[in-house]
Amino acid sequence: MRREREPIPRARSEFLLVKCPDCNEERILFSNSAKDVGCRGCGKKLAESRGGKSIVLANLVKRLG
Ligand SMILES: [Zn+2]
Repeated sequence: MRREREPIPRARSEFLLVKCPDCNEERILFSNSAKDVGCRGCGKKLAESRGGKSIVLANLVKRLG
């Protein structure tokens, strides 16, 4: 049985739910953010922007798509 082609979203950008390793504050960030993202609780840097893509420095809880 042949499978139909499935529409697989290949978006390079997605929203990520991350948790600060220092204070456990959860924060949603965008994977293609052009800015660094800091924790609202303690100010720790949770994601660093490199060339339009975020490097996540916090604990990834889940991908929200
Ligand atoms: Zn924090």
